[in-house]
This record gives sequence, C-alpha cells and structure tokens, in this order.
Amino acid sequence: MLDLTALKEILAYPRHIVITTHHKPDGDAMGSSLGLYNYLVQKGHHVKVITPTDYPVFLHWLPNNPEVLIYTEKKEESARYVAEADLIFCLDFNSLSRINELGERVREAAAKKVMIDHHLEPEDFDDYRYWSINACATAQLVYEFIVKEMKEPNLINKDVASCLYTGIMTDSGSFRFPTTTSAVHLIVADLIDKGAENWKIHQLVYDNFAENRLRFLGYCLLNKLEVLSEYNTAMISVSKEELERFNISTGDTEGLVNYALTINGIRLAALIIEREQLVKLSLRSTGDFPANEICKKYFQGGGHRNAAGGQSGESLDATVARFKQLLPEYKSLLIQ
Ligand code: 5GP
Ligand code: MN
Repeated sequence: MLDLTALKEILAYPRHIVITTHHKPDGDAMGSSLGLYNYLVQKGHHVKVITPTDYPVFLHWLPNNPEVLIYTEKKEESARYVAEADLIFCLDFNSLSRINELGERVREAAAKKVMIDHHLEPEDFDDYRYWSINACATAQLVYEFIVKEMKEPNLINKDVASCLYTGIMTDSGSFRFPTTTSAVHLIVADLIDKGAENWKIHQLVYDNFAENRLRFLGYCLLNKLEVLSEYNTAMISVSKEELERFNISTGDTEGLVNYALTINGIRLAALIIEREQLVKLSLRSTGDFPANEICKKYFQGGGHRNAAGGQSGESLDATVARFKQLLPEYKSLLIQ
C-alpha cells in the first residue's frame, strides 16, 4: 500500500505512466482519463491512455484524444507500455475483469496501481485508492485529487477542465441525478471558469447524432418499447439483425435506456441488446430501487443502485424471458 506522501514522491519526478479505464468507455471513462492525462503531462510525465476497446465517436473531440491507444487494435504496443510503466492509474472501474484481457497485463505489471473510482465493492488489486461511491463521476474525483490531494488547482487548464466537465456532465445525466450536489455545481462552475465551454461540450456530445442513430431511436420507441405496468417497468430489447439494419455502432445505443425511464410512474427501465458474443443488459432505476442487485444476482454484473449493467450467455429471447420472470420477486419494491 502507498500513502499520499509516497504517491506524491513518485509523482515528483518524470515517470512512465499508463492510464486505463473500463471497456466500452463512456463519457466519464474518457473524460476522467484524458483529464488526468492532460494534468500529468504538464508535470513532465510520459503518459499513455490505453482503453480496452474502442469508444463512441462523439468523444473523439476530447483534447489529446489522438494520444489514446486502443488495446484491441494495438495489443503489443499497449502491453509494452503496461509492462514498462512505473505507475498505472485505473479510472472508473474497480475490478480487473472490467478491462478484459488488459486486466491480466495490469495485474502482472510491476507498476504501482492507483484506483480512482466511484463504483461499489472495489476489488483489491491497487496500491493507492481514491474512491467514493458518493461522487457523481470519476471525473469529480480526478478534480478533487488534483485540487485537494495534489494541491495543484493551477494545473487545471482548459484541456483538463473540458475533459472533466464532460465526465461529470455525462455521468450525472446532465446534472440531474441525486449525486449532483451543490459541491458538484461548485466544481462545474470552477471548470467553466478554467475554460470548459459548457454549451459547446453539450453540443459535441449530445447534438452530434448521425441520421441513422436518430431513426433507430424512433424505431425503438415506436416498435420495441414494452411497458409492464404491473411492475412499473419498461424495457427495450434489440436484436443483432436490428443493429445491423440501422448500421448501429459503438456508443449509438448510449442513453437509449433512459427514454424508457421518462414514462410517468416507471421505476425500472431495461435495455437488452444482442451483441456479437453475448447479450448485454443496461438497467436504470429511480429512488432506492437497487438495479445493481438484479444485475449482480442474475446477470453477472453490477454497478450503481440507479445505473447498472450485466450480461447473459443465453439467447436474446431467453434473456428477455428471464428478466420478466424475476420481476415478481421485486414487485413490492417496484410498486411503492
Ligand atoms: P451501462 O448500462 O451504461 O452499460 O452501465 C451502467 C453502469 O453499470 C456502469 O457505470 C457500470 O457501473 C455498471 N456496469 C455495466 N455493465 C457492467 C458489468 O458487466 N459488470 C459490472 N460489474 N458493472 C457493470
Ligand atoms: Mn463513472
């Protein structure tokens, strides 16, 4: 284990640093990773961000995105960076299984490992942990790490601010989830003061749809949305054939599950998608309904209480059936 003083001593000299984040990275994963990247390079470190898989094009504008290595596209080069690193930052995940094959490389690496994360039940693979489930985003924790722990608010430049703003904006559902405290708003205000162009970032992330993505959304809402009123639950399931028909790629389904939750009275929303090798589930809930418990118990997954995910090795139809079958167990919580 490292304490803060020891970590600061390591960071006092130029080091080889790898930053990695969970597979299929979202706005918080990429925002926190590139935010930390843009901070560390100012301190003279040699830094590489390595993602386990690719990520949506609406995140490719993030400052210094071209510096990111995608493990599945450059395995040997990525493995070399991991093996030669002095320090590895693990951002927005807390179990090495969340970074696929890269997880074993990280586990075996001689580097000290720093976890910065806000998910429940961290696994014990790190040497230093900056972790809180109360944070609305890992990007919030990166901000607090730089400002409160490293005491270097002056290093939050426009690039760092733009990345961290993106992470907080996306993971807080545009500043509306319960974790969006007044402290979060103060951080966001500071990020805007430091150069984050909030209006532009919203546009780049949310008003950047290809036409097929919007048509796919319309198709899902009209034809695929199923409302199970008895359980205050709504779900959308999508087959591989439908994804292909609408030419849907990474990230295009992000946010889709939230539409199901906008129906009056709905407490649980599910998006069930047939991917290449498996069926992926995304659950969202309101209030204290534990979406993560369902994912953990039935779908080898987990996450936050109101936003969780998992997977199934069964067919799409069987997974949908299994999801419907488990609802009676949660009925009393769902109809409160
Ligand atoms: P999404 O539905 O956007 O894919 O994921 C929502 C949240 O659920 C993520 O922030 C993550 O915490 C969690 N999550 C999604 N998929 C998995 C999974 O397969 N395993 C675990 N443990 N958590 C997941
Ligand atoms: Mn996050």
